[in-house]
Amino acid sequence: MGLQESEALDVERIREDFPVLQREFDGQQVVYLDNAATTQTPKRVVEAISEYYYEYNANVHRGIHQLSQEASIAYEEAHDTIADLVGADGREETVFTKNTTEAENLVAYSWGLNELGPGDEVVLTEMEHHASLVTWQQTAKKTGADVKYVPVTDEGHLDMEAAKELITDDTKLVSAVHVSNSLGTVNPLAELADVAHDHDALIFGDGAQAVPNRPVDVKDLDVDFYAFSGHKMAGPTGIGALYGREEILEDMEPYLYGGDMIRKVTYEESTWNDLPWKFEAGTPSIAQGIAFAEAAEYIDDVGLDNIRRHEERLTEYALDRLAAFDDIEIYGPTDPTERGGLVGFNLDGVHAHDLASILNDHAVAIRAGDHCTQPLHDKLGVAASARASFYLYNTTDEIDKLVEGLEDARDIFA
Ligand code: PLP
Repeated sequence: MGLQESEALDVERIREDFPVLQREFDGQQVVYLDNAATTQTPKRVVEAISEYYYEYNANVHRGIHQLSQEASIAYEEAHDTIADLVGADGREETVFTKNTTEAENLVAYSWGLNELGPGDEVVLTEMEHHASLVTWQQTAKKTGADVKYVPVTDEGHLDMEAAKELITDDTKLVSAVHVSNSLGTVNPLAELADVAHDHDALIFGDGAQAVPNRPVDVKDLDVDFYAFSGHKMAGPTGIGALYGREEILEDMEPYLYGGDMIRKVTYEESTWNDLPWKFEAGTPSIAQGIAFAEAAEYIDDVGLDNIRRHEERLTEYALDRLAAFDDIEIYGPTDPTERGGLVGFNLDGVHAHDLASILNDHAVAIRAGDHCTQPLHDKLGVAASARASFYLYNTTDEIDKLVEGLEDARDIFA
């Protein structure tokens, strides 16, 4: 298969949108397979940023003047676009944050510190990213609540029978990663939401690895909170979103205080602005917010179902090619339709960091480390793993280059 391999996408055309993919190191074109960390940015998203700075740079919400009005409209409408992307009811349910991590912390500070107490339980999964795991672990410590973990099976799935036992009337919140950034597993978030709601608990979905590459509808999933990051979905860094059910966000205290998030301030008291501005104190990331919406429109134009199918094909191809190595251990489900577009693995006798370094000599960019899932790696019995992760512009030829690099690594360490 070559560049035209995917029936789902015109990859050759798409690659023209990403100039960075033309970069060469020592005469070798870069093969970017670190998309689960950060995706590349298409021209129209970069242009949305320069257009803002060249044509209507001004602070939002406050100005009567024309530039501020234009910036305000674009920034506010960006919330509507992001709300549409994930099926939220509107901007009232769509708070812009710095990233997924900040969205988790917003809910932990604003909801968790006020609602959790001794005897309450927070249920996480063993495959949580530190963004969720550390945040809820520390919030539980501060409030006297307990944390429980839904186990991961040997096949890399969530043990849903155990989840049903662990989630009880003491559970106040379930926080689960939608698509695991280490195993690739697509978790049954809607089913978990049902179990949580049966016990009057809230559920937080970490969509950092889901929103970039598949259609997501927060109402279908029936989650109460859901978070994702712009820089993992063809958007800029410094911007992400928290979806929250409107009635819950209404009841929550602000997370940060200051300008823009208030309605009326006296020397004694303050009242809060409407949603979502109540949670966006101070001057926000205006250019990033506008470009975040541009990225959402870009992936929506390509088609999120197409992106999902393309990633499934690449994952299937990668799993097949890696399966030919008898000294590679692959983590996560074996069925490519049950996982996102990433493959975590280890090559026997070669540390993941050495592997990444040899692949770098081949101009192949992968990730090596614990991928912010240290407890999961402890459970797998490894300190680190290598991770190749795909996006809409990747090809099977690039996976062949990954495999060539792995063969080279094996020869070097043999
Ligand atoms: N959750 C998952 C599943 C992730 O993969 C990541 C990033 O790798 C995060 C959360 C944190 O995202 P950010 O660093 O953008 O806050």
